[in-house]
Amino acid sequence: MIIENEFMKLEHTESSSPENSSPKIDYDVAIVGAGPVGLATALGLYQRGIENIIVLDQTRAFRQVGQTIGLLPNGMKALRYIHTQAHKNLTEEFKKSKNPLKEDPSKPKWTMRNVNGEKIPSPSKGLGEIFGKYGEHLGLIRWYDLQTQLRTLLPENLVKPNHRFVSVVAEPELQCVRADFVSNLGAKANPYSYWEDKQKKDRTNTGSLSQFPESEMTSIRAKLLIGADGINSTVRQSIYKDTPYSAYSKPEYSGFSGVQTEGIYRVPEALSQQIKEQFFDDAKTVIIYNFLTSETATINQEPTMKMVIWSYEPGEFEYLIDAIMPFESLAGKVGKELIDSLVLELKKANFPEIIQQLVALSPPENLANRPFYIHPVNMSAPDRAKWSIGRVVLVGDAAHGMPPVAGQGANQGMEDAAAIATLVNEINKQNQWDDTAAIEAAFNKYESLRRPIIEVAQQGSLGIRAFSSEWHEQFAEEIYGRNIAEIMQTLL
Ligand SMILES: Cc1cc2nc3c(=O)[nH]c(=O)nc-3n(C[C@H](O)[C@H](O)[C@H](O)COP(=O)(O)OP(=O)(O)OC[C@H]3O[C@@H](n4cnc5c(N)ncnc54)[C@H](O)[C@@H]3O)c2cc1C
Repeated sequence: MIIENEFMKLEHTESSSPENSSPKIDYDVAIVGAGPVGLATALGLYQRGIENIIVLDQTRAFRQVGQTIGLLPNGMKALRYIHTQAHKNLTEEFKKSKNPLKEDPSKPKWTMRNVNGEKIPSPSKGLGEIFGKYGEHLGLIRWYDLQTQLRTLLPENLVKPNHRFVSVVAEPELQCVRADFVSNLGAKANPYSYWEDKQKKDRTNTGSLSQFPESEMTSIRAKLLIGADGINSTVRQSIYKDTPYSAYSKPEYSGFSGVQTEGIYRVPEALSQQIKEQFFDDAKTVIIYNFLTSETATINQEPTMKMVIWSYEPGEFEYLIDAIMPFESLAGKVGKELIDSLVLELKKANFPEIIQQLVALSPPENLANRPFYIHPVNMSAPDRAKWSIGRVVLVGDAAHGMPPVAGQGANQGMEDAAAIATLVNEINKQNQWDDTAAIEAAFNKYESLRRPIIEVAQQGSLGIRAFSSEWHEQFAEEIYGRNIAEIMQTLL
């Protein structure tokens, strides 16, 4: 506690206020980052009558970026609790859309194989059944589409692009924090926030220094600041600076990397035929684990590489690879060098020649390659980097980013948003905006509630497990089976 206060004072004395800043407190809550978690938090506050809020994002314009995200039962339950209309809209969209999470389990469009093409027993239940029993409609949605769905439910003036957060200082005498942002600056790529396609030129890039020669610094004051700026969070770096947590400012490599291609077209017929016969049968999707025999999949042995291949049109394939590998294997590689390294990794993981040949045909411009990072939460108490300091709190990937292998990053972030909305609502109801101790206590409660389940989710995201494994059933029960609305009541 003393460290935190000293830290905040230190930050305060080291920073100078920008000229002409007025001591007026602009907002009750300022949120940095208009990703799914920042926006869900804003919606939760707004629905509870906390309307003097702002969401500020570094992007120069909201634009089509990002990976596909699976919203799963816990995330949907949290969203139902956060904002009725957001939940309703997404549920409607998922009901209408064709997506693999709701296929009829009696007619599977997917199959699971080992590297020799032998069938791995599919889960006793279909995906629909695995998820369906938790009572939510689930679906896949592009990051940008999710952002748009959530963003457009808030009044337009509450979400502003072109504000890159740079630092925060405590202003105890005013019972607030001051956060500084730069605008009109060429966007600095945030390497870990979402699946950027580094191979392609970004046609809608957010600007360059020459285009926007005059960068501006703006400052805002708020009672609370929520850092929802993703895994490479600058808010995190700012509040951990010069504290014992400074070593945890940046995420670590998780040991996992992912590679995805949007499409390989005109695959020679003979190769296409061979792959279909050996791995697909009549399915449209195959998940290949690098087990050598089919039995090992059922005894919870962990593979090191998983490859999902889709083929909806003759001669056309898409794939996604998740693999445990050293950082250097693929990091920073592009074009032919990346493809050659990927083929080598497939070979090392015992993937057969025909799959290596398929990957060798990947058009480099359709490839996205990224190492996955993590902010591990499983460290013991004295070393544990807290998720809040004073009036600043971290949510989503900024607090506990993890690899996407278990599909939990955004879903866990929705639960954070539900918890923060509940606690800030209470601060508002009790009129405790000027009560630093009450605010710190609320943020500590948030962390105590969320940390144990994040540990489970992170552990799940650090291994490749077949859907058929017992492990998966236990994980599903533990993560999806909880009653989120009831859990939130325990915060009161
Ligand atoms: C390939 C892949 C697949 C995934 N699949 C799933 C899945 O199936 N299910 C799931 O739950 N999760 C999945 N995830 C994880 C999920 O995308 C993240 O957990 C989620 O996006 C985190 O949300 P967030 O709002 O915390 O951060 P982000 O989505 O990273 O958003 C952060 C926002 O902050 C902004 N920002 C960053 N820095 C600043 C700054 N300095 N100033 C102002 N703004 C800033 C960014 O522009 C961005 O808009 C996947 C991730 C990847 C990479």
